[in-house]
Amino acid sequence: MEINETYVKEIIEKVLKDVEKAQPVASSKKQLGVFDTMTEALEAVQKAYKLFRKYSVAQREQMISKIRELTLNEAEVMARMGVEETKMGRIEHKVIKHQLVANKTPGTEDLKANAWTGDDGLTLIEMAPFGVIGSITPSTNPSETVICNSIGMIAGGNAVVFNPHPNAKEVANYAVDLVNRGIIAAGGPENLVVTVKNPTKESSDEMMAAPCVKMLVATGGPGVVKALLSSGKKAIGAGAGNPPVIVDDTADLMKAGRDIVLGASFDNNLPCIAEKECFALYNIADELIYHMQQNGAYLIKGEQIEQLKNVCLIEKNGKWGINKDWVGRDASKFLKAIGIDSDAKLVICETDANHPFVQVEMMMPVLPIVRVKDIDEAIELAVQAEHGCRHSAHIHSKNIDHLTRFAQAVETTIFVKNAPSYAGIGAGGEGYTTFTIAGPTGEGLTAAHSFTRQRRCVMVDGLHII
Ligand code: NAD
Repeated sequence: MEINETYVKEIIEKVLKDVEKAQPVASSKKQLGVFDTMTEALEAVQKAYKLFRKYSVAQREQMISKIRELTLNEAEVMARMGVEETKMGRIEHKVIKHQLVANKTPGTEDLKANAWTGDDGLTLIEMAPFGVIGSITPSTNPSETVICNSIGMIAGGNAVVFNPHPNAKEVANYAVDLVNRGIIAAGGPENLVVTVKNPTKESSDEMMAAPCVKMLVATGGPGVVKALLSSGKKAIGAGAGNPPVIVDDTADLMKAGRDIVLGASFDNNLPCIAEKECFALYNIADELIYHMQQNGAYLIKGEQIEQLKNVCLIEKNGKWGINKDWVGRDASKFLKAIGIDSDAKLVICETDANHPFVQVEMMMPVLPIVRVKDIDEAIELAVQAEHGCRHSAHIHSKNIDHLTRFAQAVETTIFVKNAPSYAGIGAGGEGYTTFTIAGPTGEGLTAAHSFTRQRRCVMVDGLHII
């Protein structure tokens, strides 16, 4: 057989080009801002912060602009890295998350001064930096959180030291390098944002205890928020949720079915805001399920539900918890595990309200649906399933009374009406975005203003010009 050498050469060249294209930009060189030890990272960031104090607000904005540009250019690289490293989520959705961060995270325009003028003169309130901020980031939105927090914190005039989730350190540190590339390209100081090559509990403890770290921000589950709040420092805690969605009999059911599948399957249900259990009025539940099926959901029943429970959850001392190997995996894998071959994007099933699928924050594309007799029962069970996290809740209804009553009862930071959950962070909904939603400490959707301290400056008998 004769081999066509030109043809083979062409194929090899194409493959090499593709491999090169998919390579992370910073893989082969030393990553900017990434240090071997936390001690070195803390030293470097302090020096950077001192220099940064001399930069103007306009210069901060130039750095942020460059970070936005690089994030858009490298969204796909980070999306791929994130899925490869953590084995969680979907590349196409992670691309969207990075684009959202680049386009809708507020910059310096978020800092608003306040003033009083009167017979006694002029008093000003300005939003000043905290200094060096210590930030702990999750495995579920690793690079997104690093970039989003960096933009907000730099806009506020701060420097940042990150201790990312160990299971997502490669992509988180890639993002730290990207942020530094942006800062330096815009004429900013080196190491304004730093991290450690191998984040550990010890490096996290060192960061939290360091006297130069003036504020702590934790994005993650209950453990980390608790640890931070015991630190004795100013802390912002963005904790866990278990968002319910209610559908009543006034809702546009076709839209509700589609929106819930879109929200609950987005990035395989990793977002903390995603619909995690559904309460549907008994008289519309069949139609709602039909529309979910029409939009990519697969309904499992009876024994299949218990089979799946034993695959993706673990019982310990009579309490159900997640099997971490299944967090953020594709719906098709869950179905395969119980002998079903389907490329559906969401698994749905009917359960009672006490089922662990309802009560546990699973972060898996598995959505339980509970039939309820009326809106009172829906609200009561939804509030209970949210476990007082006061994080996110959603509803599909055209009844203003139902919309209002559920919002009042559940008291969540985010409440989305008649849209997929992600509308709550500015994707298809009005308002800015963030990946650090601070329910426990009350800052809500964090942005530059959350990372500043108010300073009052008083001038008596002067500068009052009328
Ligand atoms: P996780 O709690 O396992 O980890 C989050 C971070 O905290 C990691 O960096 C981890 O190393 C660190 N950590 C955990 N326990 C710690 C402790 N005792 N001391 C110091 N650091 C500690 O969370 P995850 O699995 O990466 O992310 C999913 C969780 O985070 C979910 O509960 C989700 O709801 C929540 N989350 C909340 C928000 C929000 O904005 N509110 C955003 C994303 C994720």
